[in-house]
Amino acid sequence: MGVNLLPCDGKLCSFDCIYCECGFNKDFRTKTKLPGRELVMAAMEDKLNLLREKGTKLNVITFAGNGEPTMHPEFEKIIDDTIALRNHAYPQTRISVLSNGMHLSKKSVFNALQKVENPILKLDSPFDETVRLMDRPNAPGYSVATQVEHYKQFQGNFILQTLFLKGTFEGNVIDNTTEKEVSAWLALIRELRPREVMIYTIDRETPSGELKKAPLPVLQKIAERVGELGIKTNVAG
Ligand code: SF4
Repeated sequence: MGVNLLPCDGKLCSFDCIYCECGFNKDFRTKTKLPGRELVMAAMEDKLNLLREKGTKLNVITFAGNGEPTMHPEFEKIIDDTIALRNHAYPQTRISVLSNGMHLSKKSVFNALQKVENPILKLDSPFDETVRLMDRPNAPGYSVATQVEHYKQFQGNFILQTLFLKGTFEGNVIDNTTEKEVSAWLALIRELRPREVMIYTIDRETPSGELKKAPLPVLQKIAERVGELGIKTNVAG
């Protein structure tokens, strides 16, 4: 079950990834407010009750949606409510949050992500310049080093997610599958030791037409190298 904490009429994210399935931030400015905690919980409770009545199995509740879920000002409280509802209605169901990791300096975001079973945190490149071209964080002070320090606080209990691609965007060549990229990325993986690494590529249409999928054999080779570190991988090509 997917949960979108962001407005339905647009996108809200502190990254503006060139491959984002939701489109570029500038093209999808939202005009509505974020849904409040009570509204989110009422909708979730209704949905869980409906699923239970139908006898539907529910493996995972995933926070993703139209942007970055941790930007919701009541994120931690919503996670607390979700855990309480889940414990009551579907105690076996896991909770996942897909996050760009940009807001981990906020204590409440860090706390919330510590409480869920699957914090899935993005790191598309070990190099600031590649992240700036690929993910386009809106904070001028963004750095991979700071991001890595935040990820270290999970002490390996998180899933790291990386999207690999090749292409050009606004005249810049972008390729995070090169040996320089992959070997430096592996060095960070060795340091962070996440419990799992999700390796994937473009799946649906992207806002920029000049991007190409990283071929499956390339993703598999990268996964093999992660596997050699004794870390589980999940590849989607
Ligand atoms: S972090 Fe996710 S939602 Fe935000 S721009 Fe990137 S792909 Fe889109």
